[in-house]
Amino acid sequence: MALDWKVVDRWLMGEAFTGSRIREHLAELCDEIGPRWSSSAGERKAVAYIRDQMESEGLDNPALEEYQLETWSWESAKARVVEDNTHIDLLPLNRCPPFVAEGKIVDVGYGTPRQVEMAKQDLSDAVAVMHLAFEPFTTPVHHAIRLQALAQAGAVAAILIEKKVGRRMEYHSASDWRDPGLAEHPLPTVVTSQEHGTLLRQLANRQKSIKLSVHSKFYNAPSWNTTSEITGELWPNEHLVLGGHHDTVLGVSGGNDNASGTIAVMEAARALSRLRSETAQGPGRTIRFVTYSAEEQKLQGSSAYVAVHYGPENPPRLAINLDELSTGPIKGVVLGFPHLRELVQRQLDSMNDGLACHVMAQIDPSSDHFPFLRAGLDAAFLWRWRFHGRHADSEFHHEAGDTSDKLNVRELKEYAGQLARLLLRLSHVPPLEWPDNSVTPAQVAERLEAERGEIVRVF
Ligand SMILES: [Zn+2]
Repeated sequence: MALDWKVVDRWLMGEAFTGSRIREHLAELCDEIGPRWSSSAGERKAVAYIRDQMESEGLDNPALEEYQLETWSWESAKARVVEDNTHIDLLPLNRCPPFVAEGKIVDVGYGTPRQVEMAKQDLSDAVAVMHLAFEPFTTPVHHAIRLQALAQAGAVAAILIEKKVGRRMEYHSASDWRDPGLAEHPLPTVVTSQEHGTLLRQLANRQKSIKLSVHSKFYNAPSWNTTSEITGELWPNEHLVLGGHHDTVLGVSGGNDNASGTIAVMEAARALSRLRSETAQGPGRTIRFVTYSAEEQKLQGSSAYVAVHYGPENPPRLAINLDELSTGPIKGVVLGFPHLRELVQRQLDSMNDGLACHVMAQIDPSSDHFPFLRAGLDAAFLWRWRFHGRHADSEFHHEAGDTSDKLNVRELKEYAGQLARLLLRLSHVPPLEWPDNSVTPAQVAERLEAERGEIVRVF
């Protein structure tokens, strides 16, 4: 089967732009359904919608894959200055345990070893206040490690100061996701706004105390990944994966994070499915489309997907992960391991849009490519412009302001079209020309150990 790439490219980009269903998917997922915390009623509606859409667009084998999620939620979180009952902005970190604590407010700056050492005699039974940001000019240290130092010094709780201004607060995690386990807190940790962080530091200077209380609970509940595919016409038993998480943090409708990635999966699938039905041109190897649950809960959905589908047999030739595509337009692809670099770059070159293939210097645990990489499977993340600080709409995730207007519709059309072109090309690379993957999970574990504590470069 020889494809006429000029016709195929024109067709896929044209369909991605003029046949786009981005705006209806966005309205349904973000405005109608809204927050999609995994295991919630919102997620249940979202996965049913995605599956039904894939079916109506002619995808093969649309399905929901259920698994048991270890989840968490909170009902109330309060902070009051003991001396005068002043209210302090507060958001628990993900998986914050239920707790009540009262203690002296101790300012530990950026929580560097030097600053923790200086504050040590005051930290026992105290509530530490620490910048989430890194200390300027010093080697950046992950906040998980800084929190461990505060716990060891005897602090009863930690309040992190948000980096963003304007009383915005994001959900954060208290652990490094490269570490095993379920992101538990070294000590109960909450976040406050930048403005109230400044206030807390003044109160610390004046020897004031604070009372914190968080009501939260841990429980297990079913959750779902969605899957569908376009069966390969030459090598149906080999496959590629295009995926992105459909879930959000609690109470956030997630326009950028990650209706953008979810809808790009749906739109690339739709364009390729229409190409097949209307022009009889299909992929060589199978292309599987997956939306993952619980990315925001330490990648539990993609971890379950990898555990269920991949033993030693039938690994994906490549799994491409999409997350937060509204931070700027597409620049290319970044691979976890180097051996596919030339192959992917050749396909990008043939697309003639100046897209580039890079390789991660460190194994990036920030999204759903990580469970694949941890298993030694070839996976990639999208390289994209990140206009933080310049385009006001491009830096929203994990907070109430990440609404449907934060998804850039026009840019997402290009993502969908380019991904469809790239996947179709990759699907037609003959098996003998595809480099072998000799990476083992043991080698990855060794690398993760060596890279432990480093801040991963994501630009
Ligand atoms: Zn995300």
